[in-house]
Amino acid sequence: MRFSDIIGQNGVKELLSHGVDIGHISHAQLFAGRCGYGALPLAVAYAQYILCENRRDGDSCGVCPSCYKVAAMEHPDLHFSFPVSNSEFVIKRNTSGSSEITSDSLIEKWREMMNVCRDGDMQNTIPQGYFNESEWYEHIGIGKNGQGIINRSEAYEIIRKFGYKSYEGGYKILIMWLPERMNDSAANKLLKLFEEPAEKTLFILVSQSPDAIIKTILSRTQTVNIPPIGVEDMTDYLSARFPGIDAGAVAKSSQGDILSAHAMAEDNDEDDTNFNMFASLMRLCFAVNHTGLIEWGENAASLSREAQKDFISYSLRMLRDSYMVTVGVPQLNYSFGRHAQFITRFFPFVNNSNIEILISEFERVALELSFNANTKILFVHFALSISKLIRKA
Ligand SMILES: [Zn+2]
Repeated sequence: MRFSDIIGQNGVKELLSHGVDIGHISHAQLFAGRCGYGALPLAVAYAQYILCENRRDGDSCGVCPSCYKVAAMEHPDLHFSFPVSNSEFVIKRNTSGSSEITSDSLIEKWREMMNVCRDGDMQNTIPQGYFNESEWYEHIGIGKNGQGIINRSEAYEIIRKFGYKSYEGGYKILIMWLPERMNDSAANKLLKLFEEPAEKTLFILVSQSPDAIIKTILSRTQTVNIPPIGVEDMTDYLSARFPGIDAGAVAKSSQGDILSAHAMAEDNDEDDTNFNMFASLMRLCFAVNHTGLIEWGENAASLSREAQKDFISYSLRMLRDSYMVTVGVPQLNYSFGRHAQFITRFFPFVNNSNIEILISEFERVALELSFNANTKILFVHFALSISKLIRKA
């Protein structure tokens, strides 16, 4: 994967390549940003740049032996670590007798996920390396509601791998995807390695919830913020792939997240879970229908973690766009289609008296979702408290 394969993110690409060019590479870095911003593909492109034998013009060459090996996810000095769980697939393969499985048991699945073009016809295929946590769990056969962890055996494996020199004499790199899934015991094992790494060692942690990473690990990393993909880059990308849509509107509404943008661009009207959930929550709130709100909360709790987070970001967009209309700047309302139509009736209920507290309530739920909260209690309580807040307006 080259930097040129990544959508937008020119600022980050320059920052990263320039660091390498002047020999400044921090040994433990945290790439923080949503999966749909491209944090993972950026980490791989960065690793490929560092390992490339023939870097030029701020990018890897793409054709040297090293670049080939990275592209195949088979470079001996590039290691991956990611959340795993005991899927049927793993149990079949796990012959070592150990009860805890590690990333190595799933490395073939990981390569498939990283390399295989997804979602049918080429035109609508999401580029390599852009996928979210539940897609990964679905791919390894534990279902999109599954939850993987980075466990102690994994930490031992990493320590073993980083205990000897690189094969090819250059850098030795670990890309750890979703370090927020690391448990205490793994984190304790890895602390010393992160603190006193061997020379030419690089750890890249790729996280979408840095708040949920164990603090001792977090404090040993240097953060590289991966921002949302810029509107212009997103518009260019979308208009090339989806000629029939209003690329500019979708780009704005997707808020820099390629996965959201694809979901919106491919939207067929029958499957609009977020819109339906938001609209029904608001209807129940206005009707002060307590039984309905409790049912709504239970239903929300039964969704996958990723779907729940998606709903929260969707709702935050709807609140933001409604507020823009309320305060007289409708041109900053980026919603379109029936989302916009809904806002024309809904906006007066989001105003200065409740916008802040509404947003913080949605954000609180998003944060608690990262911490394995009891989602049934969380969403029922949430639905009831939103009902109070929205009627306060
Ligand atoms: Zn190369």
